[in-house]
Amino acid sequence: MAALGHSLGSMTLKPISVACPQCSSTEVYYSCNPSCCYNHVCNKCYTTFELETARAGEVTEDFAVPPDPESGAPTAPCARCQEPRVFAIEAQESRYVCAACKALLTLEFTEIAPA
Ligand SMILES: [Zn+2]
Ligand SMILES: [Zn+2]
Repeated sequence: MAALGHSLGSMTLKPISVACPQCSSTEVYYSCNPSCCYNHVCNKCYTTFELETARAGEVTEDFAVPPDPESGAPTAPCARCQEPRVFAIEAQESRYVCAACKALLTLEFTEIAPA
């Protein structure tokens, strides 16, 4: 009988955190709401930008759905279902998942406007 190479553990999700594409500050705030747009602003250099996601596959592992991000925390819409419930996968650099539809996602900056 083959031993399991690794446990069937579940992924851990964490809130999205992004650094300003202009100055790399992590003091970045979501300044709008999902019914409008995904405009963020950097608290250091006041660059504004939007976050968007691109589909990278499907998540098959189980995960616990974290609480919704607090208001002002970086937020991005799912590229598939548009739900603003995208979380980072802990221990997997640059991998994100939609808690609503389990799409595997990457995160991208768009509409970058330096102040
Ligand atoms: Zn900045
Ligand atoms: Zn989704």
